[in-house]
Amino acid sequence: PAEAELEALQHADVAALLPVPGSESDKYRRGVVGIAAGSARYPGAAVLAVSGALRGGAGAVRYVGPAGDAVISRFPETLVSDKGPRKAGRVQAWVVGPGAGDDAATVAEVLAEDVPVLIDADGLRLADRDTVRARTAPTLMTPHAGEAAALLGVAREEVEGARLASVRELAGRYAATVLLKGSTTLVADSAGGPVRVNATGTSWLATAGSGDVLSGLAGSLLAAGLSAVDAGSAAAYLHGLAGRFAADGAPVGAHDVAEAIPRAWRDVR
Ligand code: AMP
Ligand code: MG
Repeated sequence: PAEAELEALQHADVAALLPVPGSESDKYRRGVVGIAAGSARYPGAAVLAVSGALRGGAGAVRYVGPAGDAVISRFPETLVSDKGPRKAGRVQAWVVGPGAGDDAATVAEVLAEDVPVLIDADGLRLADRDTVRARTAPTLMTPHAGEAAALLGVAREEVEGARLASVRELAGRYAATVLLKGSTTLVADSAGGPVRVNATGTSWLATAGSGDVLSGLAGSLLAAGLSAVDAGSAAAYLHGLAGRFAADGAPVGAHDVAEAIPRAWRDVR
């Protein structure tokens, strides 16, 4: 691809994007991120998405879903709601989908909210395309190659062999910002601008739950007011760096990656 088609974020670019609370900030001004994730079968996805969100710069993390007990026992600072997304209270950006199973109703309810929404994992399969297209607030979709292939109706190898074209095609079809995960991460908006590319990661990030941490982190940056492209690419940058710091040449679990986000953040700033 021509160089102008791709844009790599540098340390300084990311530093300029990261929210810093002002002296008059309170938790609401910093942003509240809502996490609608997890299921009886996959409560851990909710815990990991919250773990990423707590380290992403929002002032508070709200959780709705069936994994509230697991979330609160690991992260007592989470605001757990037993109501659905619409009645959960103030939220500046939603993350929907990690470990969500077949809960299409929650996905639809989140997509109806007039705030930025990040759709990941099961949520990608459950989201109605026309509903996503009709949204006026930003939408950020975060598929890996397999999920992108399913959305495009092609084989996974086809996406892997044409990652740039695939991420652009998806962004156009959904009129959304799309972050395509993999050994490098591509972020495309639907306007056809340059695609952001991130290569800070490490293959140790190829581990269960790693993407759930990224979704929470990116959602938190959305809640703090970053655009979908900026939130997605800054999150990919930090997540990749956190993976490097956490792994340091040895295997790690996704929760280790989440715990290394503050170190990545300090390194960037
Ligand atoms: P998921 O497949 O949803 O768990 O997401 C996996 C996360 O790990 C994404 O952020 C990927 O970009 C990252 N990742 C997976 N494999 C690699 C790899 N080989 N090198 C660098 N990052 C990777
Ligand atoms: Mg995933």
